Amino acid sequence: MVFPCVIPKPNRCRLTGEYYAGSAAEIRKTIDTELPDNGAYRLVISKDGIEVSAADDKGFFYAQQTLKQLAFVYGNPLPTMEIDDAPVFMHRGFMVDSVRHMQTVDELKKLIDTASMFKFNVFHWHLSDDQGFRFESETYPELTQIACVRPSSDFGKVHDNTPYGGYYTKQQMREIIDFCHARFITVIPEIDMPGHTCAILHAKPELSCKGEEVSIKTTAGIFEEILCCGKEETFDFIFGLLDELCEVFPDPFIHIGGDEAPKNNWKICPACQGRMLQEGLANEEQLQGYMTTRISEHLAKKGRQCICWNETLASDILPEGLIIQNWMDKKKQVPAFAAAGGRVIYSDYYHYYTDYPYAMTPVKKTYTADPVPKNLPAEMLQNCIGVETPIWTEHVRDFSRLCYMTWPRFAAVSETGWTKKERKKYDDFKERMVTLLPLLEENGIYAADPKEWDPISVSRLPRTLGHFADTVSAEMVTNFFKDTFKKD
Ligand SMILES: [Zn+2]
Repeated sequence: MVFPCVIPKPNRCRLTGEYYAGSAAEIRKTIDTELPDNGAYRLVISKDGIEVSAADDKGFFYAQQTLKQLAFVYGNPLPTMEIDDAPVFMHRGFMVDSVRHMQTVDELKKLIDTASMFKFNVFHWHLSDDQGFRFESETYPELTQIACVRPSSDFGKVHDNTPYGGYYTKQQMREIIDFCHARFITVIPEIDMPGHTCAILHAKPELSCKGEEVSIKTTAGIFEEILCCGKEETFDFIFGLLDELCEVFPDPFIHIGGDEAPKNNWKICPACQGRMLQEGLANEEQLQGYMTTRISEHLAKKGRQCICWNETLASDILPEGLIIQNWMDKKKQVPAFAAAGGRVIYSDYYHYYTDYPYAMTPVKKTYTADPVPKNLPAEMLQNCIGVETPIWTEHVRDFSRLCYMTWPRFAAVSETGWTKKERKKYDDFKERMVTLLPLLEENGIYAADPKEWDPISVSRLPRTLGHFADTVSAEMVTNFFKDTFKKD
């Protein structure tokens, strides 16, 4: 068996040749302020006992997760060893789309608890999109009355005429947040804007450019109706909603989306065009930059920082300190942003989107992706703050499907987030992962079968095509083939 059978692989570990026959629950803890406070820990298993040093509780927690896996794999007696460990990246996240399909609080807890065993420290919660709104708002009760239910679901070839919806109450969200905090996971809520807002606009059509009725969407896609950036009421609404969001979510980061916002309505809207004239903005991308800046400044007053998807970089007007989540950098703007001092999170669509089949994104492809742009100057490497793997749920209708799609790809990302590149090796990871699968099952998480992780190339083609025929655009198919057969 590969040693140590732990994911993510500890950054330094050596066997010391004896055995410890006592309980793995009996640990002597020492605070060591010399160690960094980023989750670093030192774990020594000797024949006399288990000793852990860390600067704080976070480090003790991660040592505990390592020990949990060791005890599961090696049982009693444990081989003696010394581990010195610390993460490579500060942001090690997973994102769940609770809009297209929701998860129960208990399901989310199972996923979060399992993610914490793999030392993830960020849960990004996608709560608003074209197909629904999932945050209980008392400031705007129409959102939870009108924007949370769609009349049917028509994703790909699957049609369901039953109304679908719901929302998370503030109490449920606080329960999730507390559950995360107990595991040293921060929670980043996302209200996507100005695009992907059809559910909001369904409840508040007056905030669209045309002011006409907007339907809540039942299909996947990118839709023309977006929040009007010319009307001051739009900003009043956004600030009111974000203020309420900040009351529930106490962590430092708020995700405001910014992706896939078609500007056709802004181009013909008198209010939007008037705003551009008044603010001296050259184009509609700058208008989105203006919006991002105002929202960011509002959140900064509350001590919060903004995260946006990478399309936001289409504007050259951007707020100070903006963090960019890179999912599909078609215009290659992210490396330049990082080189100029901007912080980025790597979530590449072709490697980290776990809603696509293993035929398209085998585990090895996810595992071997490098989150740091090539040719980034050494002094700018620190701007690559981490990794995050999303699960979008248009086609993920239940929790067992969600677990199948996310595991083991989540574990592959966890190792990239924690373990030094030179210590990573796919075959070694795969063996450890297979050994740890029953531990996931103890947590109610049933991963994809190892036979499915890395389909041979020839079988990937028809299966990937079959998936795309159901779901996404010709452009994405083309991009997929260009990318897959170039890099893989
Ligand atoms: Zn407008």
